[in-house]
Amino acid sequence: MEFVFSEKCLDYRAPGHPENPERVKLMVDFLEKKGAVFVEPKICRERDLKLIHTPGHIEKVKNNSFSDPDCPNYKNIYFYARLAAGAAIKAAEKERFSLMRPPGHHAGPDYVKGFCYFNNIALAVEKTGRPTLIIDFDGHHGNGTQDIFMGRQDITYMSLHKNIFPGTGLRIQDNCYNHRFQKEPKEKNYLEVMNRFLKKITSERNFEQIAVSAGFDGFARDPLASLGLQSSSYYKIGRMIGKLGCPVFAVLEGGYVAEHMGENVYNFVQGLEGNKESGPL
Ligand SMILES: [Zn+2]
Repeated sequence: MEFVFSEKCLDYRAPGHPENPERVKLMVDFLEKKGAVFVEPKICRERDLKLIHTPGHIEKVKNNSFSDPDCPNYKNIYFYARLAAGAAIKAAEKERFSLMRPPGHHAGPDYVKGFCYFNNIALAVEKTGRPTLIIDFDGHHGNGTQDIFMGRQDITYMSLHKNIFPGTGLRIQDNCYNHRFQKEPKEKNYLEVMNRFLKKITSERNFEQIAVSAGFDGFARDPLASLGLQSSSYYKIGRMIGKLGCPVFAVLEGGYVAEHMGENVYNFVQGLEGNKESGPL
């Protein structure tokens, strides 16, 4: 699997903010040593942003005139957010994995939220125009993606997440299949829920491709959303998704233990591709 990445996404930071450049930098360094292939993203055009975002929202990000304590008003955030969106679109063109920041799954049609400005995965899915299953294994619920696609016949959203921020995703509703863990599950329990959901969805819904909102903050040592998962758990998650036999692309969401991001991503891709398990690295 090729990765989409540009070093430009490492250029902005806010002191003390957990969504920092190091989490992506260390991950990319690790993957480079493993021989990963990277392609450069193209910036997302404004008319593509309009596929899912309101003109008012786009203007707000452009003019830095939004207010959310989790979403700093970085200088040039409009550029960085569009570059991450463009990377997701590039990932969708050819079963790639976008490793860009900022993440996207909390951003809705007309709001920024939870470190997210534009909803990268939703843009990429909408741009393909294909019936899609979105699998979101970030430790937080992707409220933005759900808000954008709720009620759509051609899109299915599935999320396994913890009972924390943003407080949404309590149950299965229409085309949105949510499971909220009240506390950290055992790995076996987590994988059982995922397996049950995937079986239910494949029997109830039609899709031609899978888009993965790949957040790694369910990792056991994560300060924000730990679900007790190990590095090897991501291999198993990848394998489960790979076995569905559909084209898959992935977009990075959260994950805040910088020194483990590389092996978590690597194991996920190994599982997805059905390569030999590398186990904890
Ligand atoms: Zn998250």
